Amino acid sequence: MRIVVLAGGIGGARFLRGLQAAVPDADITVIGNTGDDIHLFGLKVCPDLDTVMYTLGGGINEDQGWGRTEESFTVKEELAAYGVGPDWFGLGDRDFATHIVRTQMLGAGYPLSAVTEALCDRWQPGVRLLPMSDDRVETHVAITDPETGERRVVHFQEYWVRLRASPDAEAVVPVGAEQAKPAPGVLEAIAAADLIVFPPSNPVVSVGTILAVPGIREAVAAAGAPVVGLSPIVGGAPVRGMADKVLAAVGVESTAAAVARHYGAELLDGWLVDTSDADAVAEVEAAGIACRAVPLMMTDLAATAEMARAALALAEASR
Ligand code: GDP
Ligand code: CA
Repeated sequence: MRIVVLAGGIGGARFLRGLQAAVPDADITVIGNTGDDIHLFGLKVCPDLDTVMYTLGGGINEDQGWGRTEESFTVKEELAAYGVGPDWFGLGDRDFATHIVRTQMLGAGYPLSAVTEALCDRWQPGVRLLPMSDDRVETHVAITDPETGERRVVHFQEYWVRLRASPDAEAVVPVGAEQAKPAPGVLEAIAAADLIVFPPSNPVVSVGTILAVPGIREAVAAAGAPVVGLSPIVGGAPVRGMADKVLAAVGVESTAAAVARHYGAELLDGWLVDTSDADAVAEVEAAGIACRAVPLMMTDLAATAEMARAALALAEASR
């Protein structure tokens, strides 16, 4: 069975572990969000691709959900001693090596998709991990600066990590997306899929950014395979993180039903909501999307695999 998953970082990566456990012999292609990518200290950092690669490859810091296990921060401390920032982005020594290899290969002329494949040779994530695009896309967020009262635009990482999403997001723009092309293999994987999944990833800055690359939304909408999503919003709030802030920026309420309507029946055949949101089922179905309420908390691998099985069952039912 060929499964395509449009994934952000932590939510996507954790779900993928459950999917692998539920369907061990599936051929899984992950289309990863690269709108979170940032250049730091001269290095290209791809937080969401790395979270998927480290999580599935056994190198992730499990408590944090991002970055490497058994990490140290000597390089960062030495940079700080030179007064070289930013100090708000956590880059550990082990993680630095990944970004050095990536930057070196990009500098030698390899596209990001080839670099990602080379990095995955080490980690063996058990999925084919494709960046959504080889072209540079960077999500920016418009805010009113709390210090100066002026309107300005910041990189998504500055909004999320440094400002902890505390100012309202007035707009979210995937800069460069309009000119970007899907990476090699992306459209082919979508067209050949037996199932397409939107994991519980951020609907705006993860899945939304991937869909903003021209051709990808159209390919998902035109795919023969059923498309099933799992709500990242449970009980009217994101399970972790600050998705409510970026949802508000695109005028979407932070409810499981509103996110389903935001994707719409053009994209989604099925949508899973948490059992605590069972009263959303009727509203989602009224929008033309098959819906079930099942436990959606990825507390452990067994619970996450059960979520993946529910997604497969809903796909089967909506086929
Ligand atoms: P990021 O790039 O690291 O922010 O990760 P993603 O975009 O892949 O996923 C973030 C989303 O995952 C957030 O909106 C969370 O609400 C959601 N999430 C995290 N853990 C869980 C969980 O256990 N269950 C559900 N349903 N959603 C979750
Ligand atoms: Ca992310």
